[in-house]
Amino acid sequence: MSTNRKAGFDTRSIHAGQVPDPATGAVMTPIYQVSTYAQDGVGNTKGYDYSRSDNPTRTPLQECLAALEGANHALVFSSGLAATDNLVRTIVRPGDHVVCGDDVYGGTYRLFDKVVRHWGVTFSYADFSTANLEEAIPAGTKLVWLETPTNPLLKVSDIAAVCARAHAVGAVVAVDNTFATPYFQLPLALGADFVVHSMTKYLNGHSDVVMGMVALNDTATYDRLKFLQNAAGAVPGPQDCFLVLRGLKTLGVRMDRHQQSGKVIAAWLAAHPEVARVYTPLLASHPNYDVAQRQMCGFGGMISFELKPGRGKDALERARAFVAATRVFTLAESLGGVESLIEVPALMTHASIEPAKRRAIGIEDGLIRLSVGLENVEDLIADLEAAFEA
Ligand SMILES: *Cc1c(COP(=O)(O)O)cnc(C)c1O
Repeated sequence: MSTNRKAGFDTRSIHAGQVPDPATGAVMTPIYQVSTYAQDGVGNTKGYDYSRSDNPTRTPLQECLAALEGANHALVFSSGLAATDNLVRTIVRPGDHVVCGDDVYGGTYRLFDKVVRHWGVTFSYADFSTANLEEAIPAGTKLVWLETPTNPLLKVSDIAAVCARAHAVGAVVAVDNTFATPYFQLPLALGADFVVHSMTKYLNGHSDVVMGMVALNDTATYDRLKFLQNAAGAVPGPQDCFLVLRGLKTLGVRMDRHQQSGKVIAAWLAAHPEVARVYTPLLASHPNYDVAQRQMCGFGGMISFELKPGRGKDALERARAFVAATRVFTLAESLGGVESLIEVPALMTHASIEPAKRRAIGIEDGLIRLSVGLENVEDLIADLEAAFEA
């Protein structure tokens, strides 16, 4: 690794794992668009033999990510869900029990409920932000799956407290750090065993790549995960690895700006007469504001809010009309890119959760989620105001 772990975050994000190309001096890591590597005699390689196993654009990305998460190891996968799938298949076996947050990414819930459950793995779901952890994480639990802040309700759970309870019963803890990013939150330092990301979101940050990652410290588990990465083959291509390496270089400055604009918009929404409720740890009114302040050094630009009912329309209809009326905020799933996005979780990102369960966990039909991008904040506010008027 070219950059010391003690270097500042932005220095690591720009340099860790990366050196000028020894052959040409190229400052950027080249896109090694290649599947196989010449050998000087059988088995005599320069460290690479086939790109499912390892690729010279992927390796620097993995090293950079490990340096950002403060981890001994990181592995990247072809999507966030492929990272989750590979990690779960490395850890759990038939008969094992998993405790999962009740408000996790919809696709994570779908993978657990529609796929992993059929391998004879049992699941229970808990709101880690309010639950009695001793009841929520029973003896015999193998894995705890924690997302904080959650999507789309932005609930915040105490990572250190969840890890302490999980470790007391012999369970390991994976934290999905997609919303916070390592710029604002370091789960391994708080006791987690694994950090998982959808790098599709803030880490790449430009809405042009789908990719995932697992970071961890334990070398024996890393070896098993790397074995599965190669055996099952859900690896990203070199061009995508290059794009994420480039995206990471501006992660710190992007997150600062997402947060700065997010704060302005959250305060504006909270004071708006048409808004019933705003969900974001950016505001001191957040129910777990103290935990967020303790374990995070900031937060990005994710904000959810509920419209007040009225104007003769039901909540779902009002939300549908609102998101159709914005012009700068693009109506789309996903989050964390430079452009601002808007969506209705009940109709889009969380439509795969049955309506009754969705409402039970607090995702109301009229909930709208914003991913505040890097456009000028006055333009974003003017766009939302026009949608309220429409
Ligand atoms: C998007 C997302 C995922 C899934 O990642 P993909 O890259 O879309 O497979 C997992 N967790 C969170 C919090 C996400 O936002």
